[in-house]
Amino acid sequence: MRIVLMGAPGSGKGTQAQRLVKHFGIPQISTGDILRKHLAEGTPLGLRAKEIMAAGGYVDDETMLAIIRDRLSQPDAKQGFILDGFPRTLAQADGLTKLLRELRSPLDAVVLFEVDQDELLRRLSGRRVCEFCKSVFNIHTNPPSVPPECVPGRTEHRVVQRADDTEETVRERLRVYEEKTRKPVSGYYSYTGLVRTVDAQGELDEVTQRLFDTLAANGGKKPVAAPAVKKRNAGRPKPAKRAARVRKRKPVRKAKSKSKAKPARAAKKKKAQVRRKSAGRRPLRQAARRPARRKSSKRR
Ligand code: AMP
Repeated sequence: MRIVLMGAPGSGKGTQAQRLVKHFGIPQISTGDILRKHLAEGTPLGLRAKEIMAAGGYVDDETMLAIIRDRLSQPDAKQGFILDGFPRTLAQADGLTKLLRELRSPLDAVVLFEVDQDELLRRLSGRRVCEFCKSVFNIHTNPPSVPPECVPGRTEHRVVQRADDTEETVRERLRVYEEKTRKPVSGYYSYTGLVRTVDAQGELDEVTQRLFDTLAANGGKKPVAAPAVKKRNAGRPKPAKRAARVRKRKPVRKAKSKSKAKPARAAKKKKAQVRRKSAGRRPLRQAARRPARRKSSKRR
């Protein structure tokens, strides 16, 4: 399965991605996590991304596409992947299409998680992440697990709030998501027939169920959908044959209108000309008919 998960910050796509990972055994590729790793390691990219992320903006498309190209070329992504947080702009979506065409690995689904704005604010302000095992919790809906299960050797989590989960940054992230991601990117994919919308409000397990249902909807038991191009052309003739048929059909249509309209008019005209021409040379018996008709109409 090759899936794109789309959703506002706080829509739960990261959590649901982890469940898909368990089910399908394919990697979750979170561009946010990749950037945070760079940040933690203090790489040049991490240093560059730090301020952008803290302000709730987007890292430039070229950098993000380079990250994705590198990640998708790794062996564990050959059998499938779950993209979480990418693509986030139209340019990224277009770049991804080209990259996947190169890699001959078309997408199976684009899942759009939908959550109310108020609920998003509540979720993000309550979100906490364990510094050690990276588990995500929410002080309102999913408090850190008891008894604790952290990394080996640790008996409890150490939860912190992400720097970009403060209210001011959250509002900016939601605004940027709406403007640069939700409208343009879902619009971009709406033409592919791959988009599945999931109501991401309610219990985590309910959302997971909806997610699996929607992925399975087209593929029966196993949630494997056909690639966009195949799906859109399913049942249609192959392009070469279709083109041939179209070429064949067009002249037939033109010929029909010509053979019905123009030749009929031409034939009438020709007949009239013949009649007029022959009228002069006609034997008297025929030429005399017309004046006779005119006379009778005058009488009337
Ligand atoms: P996330 O964890 O997906 O919410 O991402 C955290 C932050 O990383 C975002 O607010 C952006 O600043 C940056 N980021 C993650 N993915 C992308 C992307 N595809 N394009 C641009 N910036 C990104």
